[in-house]
Amino acid sequence: MKKAVLLVVLSLAAFGQDRVDLQIVDRIKAEAFDRSEVMETLRNLSDVHGPRLTGSPGFEDAAKWAMGELTGYGVDKVHLEKWGPFGRAWTLEQSSLEMVEPRYSQLTAVPLAWSSSTNGPVTAELTLAPVTVSFIEGPKKYQEAWQAYQAAWTGKLRGKIVLITVPKVPAQQTRPQFRRYTDAELADLEKAPDPAAKLTAKKLEDLEWPDPADTGKFFNSLSNNLMEQIYDLYDQVAADRGAFFAREGVAGVVLEDTRAHEGLLFAEAAGAFKSGGTPAPPTFVVTAEQYNRIARLLEKKSPVSLRLSLKAATSDRDVDGLNIIGEIPGGAKRDETVMIGAHFDSWHTGTGATDNGAGSAVMIEVMRILKALNLKMDRTVRIGLWGGEEEGLFGSRAYVKEHFADPRTQRVTSEHAKFSGYFNLDNGSGKIRGVYLQGHEAMRPVFQTWLAPFRDLGVTAISIRDTGGTDHLSFAAVGLPGFQFIQDPLDYGTITHHSDMDTWDHAVPEDLMQASAVIATLVYEAAVRQDMLPRRELPKPE
Ligand SMILES: [Zn+2]
Repeated sequence: MKKAVLLVVLSLAAFGQDRVDLQIVDRIKAEAFDRSEVMETLRNLSDVHGPRLTGSPGFEDAAKWAMGELTGYGVDKVHLEKWGPFGRAWTLEQSSLEMVEPRYSQLTAVPLAWSSSTNGPVTAELTLAPVTVSFIEGPKKYQEAWQAYQAAWTGKLRGKIVLITVPKVPAQQTRPQFRRYTDAELADLEKAPDPAAKLTAKKLEDLEWPDPADTGKFFNSLSNNLMEQIYDLYDQVAADRGAFFAREGVAGVVLEDTRAHEGLLFAEAAGAFKSGGTPAPPTFVVTAEQYNRIARLLEKKSPVSLRLSLKAATSDRDVDGLNIIGEIPGGAKRDETVMIGAHFDSWHTGTGATDNGAGSAVMIEVMRILKALNLKMDRTVRIGLWGGEEEGLFGSRAYVKEHFADPRTQRVTSEHAKFSGYFNLDNGSGKIRGVYLQGHEAMRPVFQTWLAPFRDLGVTAISIRDTGGTDHLSFAAVGLPGFQFIQDPLDYGTITHHSDMDTWDHAVPEDLMQASAVIATLVYEAAVRQDMLPRRELPKPE
């Protein structure tokens, strides 16, 4: 008896009321490293079942596979939760873009999602009509510039293939395309940002809009509600553009992406994906180098024509959005929940390996590790693999609204009171280097203690900063502790994010194994902690 007590004392590293069970950490590391299945899970999510565009049959097939895996690991209540009509299903079946004049050339190009199909191959003349209008300059300037653009081009584009980007030779890539955070960069992330009041106007239109160069800081100071209006505006820009070109009867639209370099293709959505909106015409993104060649020929009045063809299987009405949910029931406090999650959907040109097959595979692996070790946990551990993240965090928002609270009213459910916290992974395949506290100071000592056994695996930084752009925001918006980790950038921002090179090859096995061990440990500790995680005040209704 005494011996057992001594063992327990030795194996607990303590900080305040929090502690970490080093014997459990040891077992978790062994399971996550020696018997890892994370890369095989990711291979299935990407090579076999990718891409996973929201609303597509591909997403559903992948979801079925993931549910089978979770069930096979012994996870309970694995099921799909519908979150309402998302938009039209869209699956690419065939596409090509070729130069036929002045010389034949097969172009490296992909259609943007939700583009309309052509009626077989179409050869057409080109017009350079660059859209320089951007939402970045705010709704008022956008509307004015967009009206002017339409006035200038109405009636002039019928039957043409329209080039809509200002040609721009990609910058020389002088920085490494693959990198890890340096100690200095992590130390920087640990510094608190300068205090700044949140902008709280009700409508975007009421805000003084900054110089485009300062928009980063500006966006960071926006309330959730205003940020949502920015997303809506962004969608509106694409929908307006698609609808205009469709009305004008263009044969197709070709563009170059501002992030493009070295033959990479970055591709998101063309226009409306809801059944009520006007679908965009066939819209292709082509490599910067090829786009620029075409534009130079046009500018010098050399004859140039393209042939395009596109066939996509679509539905004509909105299909349901889906989240994948499953859980490991707790013991003494089974009505309390700790949750992990990642978005499961991807864009359509790569296989969605790093965005966000990696996060999904790690979270599935965490559930596997917890089950394989048969760890006794007081609270229930739940996994949520979200749909519709890429189009606006739809899946996690709907889940939070359904189960916990609507941020517009902040009227909380009974589940809200029993929810401990949420951990998210969605910044590529980079290993975990720390965590963003989202301003939640009371979590600092908790993370300090729980992450201590991972210092020698590179986990050192605890940042008070917010990070945005992914599903932990849905939880934080209703006052629930929700966190996204600091991850090594690798080649996520330079090569794979929303590109055709988002493939399994760019996932780093040791990084995903590390992330699996870190998150399994946090989840275990959160599930056996005496109290639920500390909370911040409930935000005001939006
Ligand atoms: Zn993404």
